[in-house]
Amino acid sequence: MRRTFLAPAAAAATLMLAIPASAAEPTPGAPGVGDPYYPDYGNGGYDVAHYDLRLRYQPRNDRLKGTATLLVKATQDLSRFNLDFALDVREVRVNGRVADVAATGAHELEVTPDRPLTNGQRATVVVRYAGTPSEVEVNGFTSWHRTPDGGVAANEPEAAWWWFPSNDHPTDKATYDVSVAVPDGTQAVSNGVLASQRSEAGWTRWNWRSTEPQATYLATLAVGKFDLTTDTTAGGLPVLNAYSRELGPHEGAARASIERTGEVTEWLEGYFGAYPFHAIGGYVPDTDTGYALETQTRPFYSPRKFQHGSNVSVVVHEMAHQWYGNSVSLERWSDIWLNEGFASYAEWMWSEHAGEGTVEELAAYAYDSVPADDDFWTVKPGDPGPENQFHGAVYNRGAMALQALRTEIGDRDFFAVLKGWQRKHAGGDASIDEFVAYTERKSGEQLDALFGTWLFQPSKPAVGPNGGAGGADRSAASAGVPDQPESWKKIQAAHEGGHGHR
Ligand SMILES: [Zn+2]
Repeated sequence: MRRTFLAPAAAAATLMLAIPASAAEPTPGAPGVGDPYYPDYGNGGYDVAHYDLRLRYQPRNDRLKGTATLLVKATQDLSRFNLDFALDVREVRVNGRVADVAATGAHELEVTPDRPLTNGQRATVVVRYAGTPSEVEVNGFTSWHRTPDGGVAANEPEAAWWWFPSNDHPTDKATYDVSVAVPDGTQAVSNGVLASQRSEAGWTRWNWRSTEPQATYLATLAVGKFDLTTDTTAGGLPVLNAYSRELGPHEGAARASIERTGEVTEWLEGYFGAYPFHAIGGYVPDTDTGYALETQTRPFYSPRKFQHGSNVSVVVHEMAHQWYGNSVSLERWSDIWLNEGFASYAEWMWSEHAGEGTVEELAAYAYDSVPADDDFWTVKPGDPGPENQFHGAVYNRGAMALQALRTEIGDRDFFAVLKGWQRKHAGGDASIDEFVAYTERKSGEQLDALFGTWLFQPSKPAVGPNGGAGGADRSAASAGVPDQPESWKKIQAAHEGGHGHR
């Protein structure tokens, strides 16, 4: 990566603190939260409650500059702490005093406050920075998509490093105010509610507000020439969708899919419970990427998602994540099944709702169409490894695992679990182990063998997700592979396209 400091960090004042000999010395916060897949993601020693990002972006040259104000709380006596960030930093202040700052590791800033923080102490961290995010590579890639009319930050698990300093792990969620000035005639789109916008001296400032806890990778920014559509759902949610003005032949299909977000959300509420946030929408920038991402309240969709026509399935997938992944976040990245298995299963339910193949038919096809000796079955959805985090097995076998659970515990308990899990963990995070324990409590059944088979066994389960030896039949072996359900290809297209750098 390329990173320089524009101004020398202020010389750290010598710490001459009158600490009694018996008191514990403050120590540095860990450079990561200890995630098994990404050990240096996130940081130890503090929690962020709120991000206030005040930015200015010039689409002509991809120049981003800004001031990030983080409201944090120390969780240990802290001599130093890290932020995850890749752009050039001009100055960091902690509680108003200039802090010493050093770049370390692949994407770390080490911040040494003038005075150590004590456990439980609240602090305000101000970071002034600038950069050209499309030119900054970390580990060989950038998550910032340069577009002909601007740029977009949307990727998983890494997106924040290129536009704001953060504690970059889903276990540290926070609220956000994102204020972005762009040249008049250009739009800046982010999460939540558009609180206000104002033009002055040729620049328009867009003020976005997210008042529910949000993980760092679910924060998004898109600058470009967009058409905005706004509405209010029957339930009172403000809707804001944004379409690049350069979608060409994809425009109709994109609008015919994303304009149904309100309908999809209402339908999902029937299975998952009340929608967890205060805004909905989606946006399609002029990118050449292939994927979609469940950025909170306002998913990112690549134009290519609509190259074969409308795809409501991808909207169902990304909106299902608002419950499974966003309101309830994964505790570790290895818990990715809690996001993708459920979002995929929601697409199967939507297919049944739309009359394009039942859940049982999709589960049978997913199971029977992949032979036992296919590598597909070696990927464990419950622990796929970082290299296979977004492998097709996490999605398709992940959804089969839920169908196997439904077959075992019955519809009543299964749908009670879908809603109850959301109620229990709303706004927080949870692990697969907790989900297994929860379903066992709800159903009164011993389910570790079932989850072991479907999530952790590196081979094809002997019994299909509908309960039979073949996938199609609950009681007997089926003969051959069933017909491909009508929705199958659309559902596969919803999660294909990979991620920005993989
Ligand atoms: Zn997904």
